[in-house]
Amino acid sequence: MSSGLLIVISGPSGVGKGTIISDLCRESPQIEVSVSTTTRSPRPQEEEGESYFFVSEPAFEEKISSGFFLEWANVYGHYYGTSREAVKEATEKGKDILLELDVQGGMQVKANMPEAVLIFIAPPSLTELRRRITARGTEISEHIEKRMHIALQELKYYEEYDYIIINNRIEETVNIVKTIISAEKYRVFRNKDLSWE
Ligand code: 5GP
Repeated sequence: MSSGLLIVISGPSGVGKGTIISDLCRESPQIEVSVSTTTRSPRPQEEEGESYFFVSEPAFEEKISSGFFLEWANVYGHYYGTSREAVKEATEKGKDILLELDVQGGMQVKANMPEAVLIFIAPPSLTELRRRITARGTEISEHIEKRMHIALQELKYYEEYDYIIINNRIEETVNIVKTIISAEKYRVFRNKDLSWE
């Protein structure tokens, strides 16, 4: 059995990554989403072990030291990281595993796991991005400005990714991601040692 794909999705906060990922997983059951560990507090409706594993800073730092993380980063003053073991387990089972990472995490995966597929989701415009962040209603205005500022920094990284999708319509974006995933499975480097004898 061939191993599953490691897929990274990045893009500024508010671009629609969450909806894209949940729609994608509903339509593509072979995809598993990696549950990250974070030191930020849960938002209303966020469940332990579903949205994130919520831990204290000392507990996170302990995991950094023990090599628990495939990648980790400090985003907006909080730590976020991906379990190395969970990713390994999923891909070995033949599952495609999807990581939603900030650009620092994306760059670590690119450096350490060159077989990963890196997809960047961008907003149609900054005005639209601000509208989406504000509409979500989870952020106070100071945080909105901070997220807009970080968004501009993040957008600069898109050229480091393998694919860039402008998220105009969720449905269209999900279809493009599905097409990318299908095509990636046919890359020759993922299909070595074939034999016809
Ligand atoms: P939020 O706090 O809105 O859930 O996520 C904030 C940012 O952290 C998003 O850009 C998200 O992609 C990123 N993020 C979530 N989990 C991880 C992770 O495990 N590693 C890294 N590097 N970034 C993450």
